[in-house]
Amino acid sequence: MSLFNKSVSMFIDKVPPSTVAVFAKRYIAGPNLEDAVRVTKQLNAQGAMTTIDVLGEFVSNKEETEHFRDLAIKVLEAIDSHQLDANLSLKLTQMGLKLSKALCLDNIEKIFKRAKELGIFVRIDMEDSTCTDDTLEIYRNYRDEFNIGTVLQAYMRRTINDIEKLSDGRLNFRLCKGIYIEPRKIAYQEKDIVRDNYTYCLETLFKKKAYVGIATHDEYLVFHAERLIREYGLKRNEYEYQMLLGVDEELREIILSRGHRLRVYVPFGRDWLPYSIRRLKENPNLIKSALEGYLR
Ligand SMILES: Cc1cc2nc3c(=O)[nH]c(=O)nc-3n(C[C@H](O)[C@H](O)[C@H](O)COP(=O)(O)OP(=O)(O)OC[C@H]3O[C@@H](n4cnc5c(N)ncnc54)[C@H](O)[C@@H]3O)c2cc1C
Repeated sequence: MSLFNKSVSMFIDKVPPSTVAVFAKRYIAGPNLEDAVRVTKQLNAQGAMTTIDVLGEFVSNKEETEHFRDLAIKVLEAIDSHQLDANLSLKLTQMGLKLSKALCLDNIEKIFKRAKELGIFVRIDMEDSTCTDDTLEIYRNYRDEFNIGTVLQAYMRRTINDIEKLSDGRLNFRLCKGIYIEPRKIAYQEKDIVRDNYTYCLETLFKKKAYVGIATHDEYLVFHAERLIREYGLKRNEYEYQMLLGVDEELREIILSRGHRLRVYVPFGRDWLPYSIRRLKENPNLIKSALEGYLR
C-alpha cells in the first residue's frame, strides 16, 4: 500500500462528514427509499438486478430496531409495487442482535414473513467475527421455512469448515473476501491466500450444488469464477455475480456482456457515514484521483 493510501486509511475517520460525503456519493443511492427505487430501475434497464440495503448499523434501543425493521418491510413492498428485479439485504445488528437476540429474532421473523408473502428473497449480510456464529445459526434455523441466504467471507479461516457444517441443507451464499479488520488468528491477512481461499470455497460450494452470489470486483476472481462455472456446467440461473454500487462499472458491463447475471448492492439511507468510510478505506485511490482532478 502506498504512503498516500496508508495515510487515507488511518485518517479518514477524522475527516468531517461533509467532506467524506463528497467522495462517498457514488456508493449510495441517496437518503430515501425512492432513491433506491430510482437507481434499481436504472440498473434493471441496463440488465442488472439489485439487492437493496437500508444503511444504519448502530442501534441503541428497541425502537430504533423497529424503525429499521419497518423500513426493511417498506423496501419489500416497494420492490413488489414497482415490480423491481431486486431483493433485500439485511444486517442483524441493525435488527438488534447486540441488544437482545430475542428482539432480533422477533424483528427478522416479521421481515421474513412479509418477504415470503411477496415472494422476495432476503440475504443476511455478514458483519464482523463477533456476529459469525449467530448469523450462521440464524441462517440454519430459518433456511427451510423462508427464502433466505447469508454471506461467507473468504478471509475467515473457519469458512471452509462452515461450508461443511452447513452442508446438511439448502445452501445459498454470497461469497466475498470480507471487509472488517480481523486478527491473524481468525482471518488470513495475505491477499494471495484470501484469493486462493475464495476459489477453494467457491469450488467447494459448486461441488455441493450451492447457489452462490460471486461478490467481488477482483478480476482475477471473476476470471476463476467463470472458469469454474464452465467446468461445473452451471446454467445461467444457478449462480450470479454481485458488485457494489459505484465500483468498477466497466467490469460490471464486461460481466453482463459475457452473458452472466449480475446483482448490484444498492444502499440507501441517512446513516451513510460508517458504510462510506469502509468503502473509502478500501479504495483510497478514489480520493487521490478526485484531488488530482481538482488540482489540475
Ligand atoms: C455485493 C457485495 C456485497 C458484500 N457484502 C459483504 C458482507 O456482507 N460482509 C463483508 O464482510 N463484506 C461484504 N462485501 C465486501 C467484500 O468483502 C470486499 O471487502 C469488497 O468486495 C472488496 O473486495 P474485492 O473482492 O472486490 O477485491 P479488492 O481486491 O478489494 O478489489 C478489487 C478491485 O476492485 C476495486 N474496488 C474494490 N473496492 C472498491 C471501492 N470501495 N471503491 C472503488 N473501487 C473498489 C479496485 O479497483 C480494486 O483494485 C461485499 C461486497 C460486494 C461486492
